[in-house]
Amino acid sequence: MMSGNFRLRAAGLLAVGTLLATTACGTGAAETTGAGEVVTALYPLQWLTERVGGTDITVTNLTAPGVEPHDLELTPQQVAEIAGAKMAVYIKGVQPAVDEAVEQHAADRSFDAATAVKTLEAAHEEGHEGETEQEHAEHEHEVSYDPHLWLDPSRLATVATQLGDRLAAADPAHARGFKDRAAKTAAELTALDAEMAKGLGTCTSKTLVTSHEAFGYLADRYQLKQVGITIDPDSEPSPARLAEVAKLAKDEKVTTIFTETLVSPKVAEVLAGEVGAKTAVLDPLETGPEQGDYLSAMRANLQTLRTALGCS
Ligand SMILES: [Zn+2]
Repeated sequence: MMSGNFRLRAAGLLAVGTLLATTACGTGAAETTGAGEVVTALYPLQWLTERVGGTDITVTNLTAPGVEPHDLELTPQQVAEIAGAKMAVYIKGVQPAVDEAVEQHAADRSFDAATAVKTLEAAHEEGHEGETEQEHAEHEHEVSYDPHLWLDPSRLATVATQLGDRLAAADPAHARGFKDRAAKTAAELTALDAEMAKGLGTCTSKTLVTSHEAFGYLADRYQLKQVGITIDPDSEPSPARLAEVAKLAKDEKVTTIFTETLVSPKVAEVLAGEVGAKTAVLDPLETGPEQGDYLSAMRANLQTLRTALGCS
C-alpha cells in the first residue's frame, strides 16, 4: 500500500501545497510563521480550535459537514494534511482512521483532547445476537473510555485551556493571543455549564433514552441516567436489547425517546411507539449544526431536555 500509493500521495501533497499557496496569495492572508495549519478531527474540536486559534492559525477539519465521524476514512490528501500540519487535534477513540494516521505521521505534533480531562469508562457492549467472535471484536472500541467528552461543556473548557497552552508552546510569538482566546472560550463554556446545571437541576425524570450512547458525559455532569439503545451508531439493536430498553422506559415512565441528527430515527420511533412516548432530536454534535455553533446547539439541547424531562 505504501509504495503503491506513493506517487498518488506525493501528487496529493503537491496539490495541497499548490492550493495553499494559491489561497494565501489570493486572499492576501498574513504570513503565518508559527502554528500555521492545524488539522482537527471532528466538529467540536474544529469549533474549539478556531475559537482558540483566531487568525493566528488556519484550521482544516477532516470530517466533512453532515458526515458521521466514527467511520471516517481518510483520503491520501487528508493523510498528507495530517503529516504536514503544525498540530493535529483529535480525540483518541472516536475515529480509528484518524488515530492511526496521527500515530504514524504526527505523533509528536498531536493534541489528544482525551488526555486533558478525566474520562468516563466506556459503556459495556453486549455481544450482538448471531454475531461471530470476529464481528464482535470489530465492534469493540479501541479505547477503554467513552470518547464523547465534548458533550460536557466543563470538560471542554478544560480542553480549551490546554489547547491554548499547546498552541502557545508551538508558536511562542502568538502565545498571548492563544492564551487570551483560550481563557475567553473556557469562560463561555463555563457559563454554558452553569446554565445547564441550573436548567437540569429539578426535573420529573432523570432518564435519557438515546439512539446511541453519545451523551454519557452530559448525563454524568448533570446527574442524568443515559440508556442507549445501541452503543455505536451503526449497529442494530438485538430484539432482546430493544425489549430490555422498552421495559426500562415503561418502568421509569419515560415520555421521550431521543433520536439524533445523523442516525436514522427508525429504531427510536419503533421503541417510542411501543412505550407510548414521543421522540425528540438531541444533537450529539458529532457534526456541525446546520445553524449556529457548538454553544447554540448545546443551548437547543438544553431546551429539548428541559421539555422532555419535565424540568422546572
Ligand atoms: Zn458517537
